[in-house]
Amino acid sequence: MRRDKNYVMKKILIGFFAILMGQLLIAQSSKCADSCEIRMKEYPILYQQQAAEYRALCYQAFNLAALRLNEILKTKAKKLAIITDLDETILDNSYQQAVLIKNNQNYTSKSWKEWIDKSAATGVPGAVEFLQKAKQKGVTIFYISNRDTSEVKSTMINLQKLKLPNADTAHMLFLFNTSSKEARRQLVMKKYNVVLLLGDNLNDFMQAFEKKNINDRFAETDKEKNEWGKKFIVLPNSAYGEWENAIYNYDWNLSPEEKENKRKINLKGY
Ligand SMILES: [Mg+2]
Repeated sequence: MRRDKNYVMKKILIGFFAILMGQLLIAQSSKCADSCEIRMKEYPILYQQQAAEYRALCYQAFNLAALRLNEILKTKAKKLAIITDLDETILDNSYQQAVLIKNNQNYTSKSWKEWIDKSAATGVPGAVEFLQKAKQKGVTIFYISNRDTSEVKSTMINLQKLKLPNADTAHMLFLFNTSSKEARRQLVMKKYNVVLLLGDNLNDFMQAFEKKNINDRFAETDKEKNEWGKKFIVLPNSAYGEWENAIYNYDWNLSPEEKENKRKINLKGY
């Protein structure tokens, strides 16, 4: 009888221990899942901040834009305008992500707003110089951004600090009703001859790219292959963007584990 009692006690203890270990493993894996998501941004942010290759790519984009603009100016076309995105096209926000990584914190709209309120973004290499020269040549600049309309003032201060041209509310078309930039582009195109579009995200260029899966994004990019470097000038951004949303099928509710699975599924091997 006593032996039976010991046996049951042992079983209970083993069961308890197994549950405890299970809980510990779950806690550890979810801790890793959260911090792994944050740490995943470390490499692209280091690339943006510390790779001279990134800087060279930005100069390359703006040098090409300047060449194209000079060609267009020879045609004597009138009421010329350039439409440009802001974040990671003209403004470098990598500092915000760097702070999040260092503090092991996830991105939140609150932390983003705190950053915007500082009006402290620096210019993407080559951006300020290119836009200043375009303005001097009589071209009007429109900033179409999905920053919130409540962020116009702090952004305008930032643009003015950088001495960017047309840094006023008439030329800043921010997020209103829809994240699609098409209606805002059309608004500018009604009055101006838009000769160049600048962005780090395909959605900065045409509506056709919006909410597409990975293969369709490639297909649409191929369709426009003659426009890249001609009318569409693309800046590098490997830290975030619509390409990332496409990997997750635009599902904002995925857990870190599900996101990791999606990433692995999309890795092409040989
Ligand atoms: Mg952008």
